[in-house]
Amino acid sequence: MSFDVRCFVLPMPDGIVVIDTGMGDNTTDIAQALERLGAGWGDVSDVVITHAHADHVGGLNGVLSKATTAVVWAGEADAGAVSSESQVRPAADGASVRGLRVIHTPGHTQGHISLLHEDEGLLFVGDAVGTMNGTMVRPPAPFTADPVEAELSLRHLARVRPHRMLFSHGAEIPDANSRLRELLEQPAPQP
Ligand SMILES: [Zn+2]
Repeated sequence: MSFDVRCFVLPMPDGIVVIDTGMGDNTTDIAQALERLGAGWGDVSDVVITHAHADHVGGLNGVLSKATTAVVWAGEADAGAVSSESQVRPAADGASVRGLRVIHTPGHTQGHISLLHEDEGLLFVGDAVGTMNGTMVRPPAPFTADPVEAELSLRHLARVRPHRMLFSHGAEIPDANSRLRELLEQPAPQP
């Protein structure tokens, strides 16, 4: 099975934020992304975990071994499930991490969060929704803890209307807001 999961390295005004750390050791790729920004591991101020699934947090301790001063954040209900060598701080709904607004989007996991880069209108949706071959898709039902809540969270995200939507699984697609509204018109998987 080929498996594509994304981490994001974001230069913010007062630090560099890494969103998710992938399944295994991704420090080489993340180091390259930092280098492209003219930065290094010491500039990583924060690591934000969208949710405590292995493909998003597996690489965390590898990242923390390099970014030794980074603060780790995860949604309140998932923070305890993140295996981390540093303390994991709860990222509450509405909180801001260096200009990234935390949006509580439970369902896929109870503590799943999305992140909005308010200045640039970039919405990082984690696994709330993804894309496959250019089509927007809900995450596979077996991996979603509470499909009813997940659907409510998707409706919440549809009201954010970001400039761009970035997915943990799947490439960016044009006009993601319209595609999300269309997806919500299709029947949701039944619990
Ligand atoms: Zn997941």
